[in-house]
Amino acid sequence: MTSLTIVSVYPEVLGTYGDSGNVRVLERRLAWRGISSTVLDVPLGAALPLQADLYVLGGSEDEIQHRALLALRESGLQSAVGNGAHVFAVCAGLQLLGNSMRRGDGSQVEGLGLLDAVTERLGRRVVGEVEARFVDAALPTLTGFANHGAGTELGPRARPLAVTTSGLGNGGQPRGPEGVVQGSVVATYLHGPVLARNPAFADWLLGRVVGRELRPLPSGPPEALHAALVGNR
Ligand code: GLN
Repeated sequence: MTSLTIVSVYPEVLGTYGDSGNVRVLERRLAWRGISSTVLDVPLGAALPLQADLYVLGGSEDEIQHRALLALRESGLQSAVGNGAHVFAVCAGLQLLGNSMRRGDGSQVEGLGLLDAVTERLGRRVVGEVEARFVDAALPTLTGFANHGAGTELGPRARPLAVTTSGLGNGGQPRGPEGVVQGSVVATYLHGPVLARNPAFADWLLGRVVGRELRPLPSGPPEALHAALVGNR
């Protein structure tokens, strides 16, 4: 693979708390290794290119999240994933990739079905810092912050990405599942941007997309940020 194409999906609406920064982190960490990439920011209303290697979705507020879901249903994202594309999604992005999602007005809407997950209203907001231990990946503690009013339960085809050791998981539970992995889709509830706070996680994700483990980079400010945040609550 000579160059990667990364699509930032509707960054002006799926980008709360600076989530679009995740795309910048991925692009920089590739460049630091001499791997070129093209980042395409695709706004709501524009056609999604379907040949990309990685699609990145961020968080959103309820109403605009629903509009993004309606657009994504028509976008061809599902077939791109069927053809091998990877997806990284945060919070609202995670929710709309599931089987269904409950809106603030109580109505249930069908999701994209890329994750075996169901999202219901929690009746309260989950807000706060989270630390979690990765379930399958051998990575340092996951750190980020959560802010959502709906929560997600995983079905048998989805694996949790991590389990919270402090703060609340996908469904608002302490010591609960955090995030999702299913095939080429990786998702988390955590903001930060989460990949800026977790450089090893960003590299793990890129390794999955590139198809090989990436060579380590010298430790720098991203690793110092991670070290400063973990265990410091
Ligand atoms: N609107 C969704 C919720 O409140 C997602 C929030 C977010 O992306 N931060 O659950």
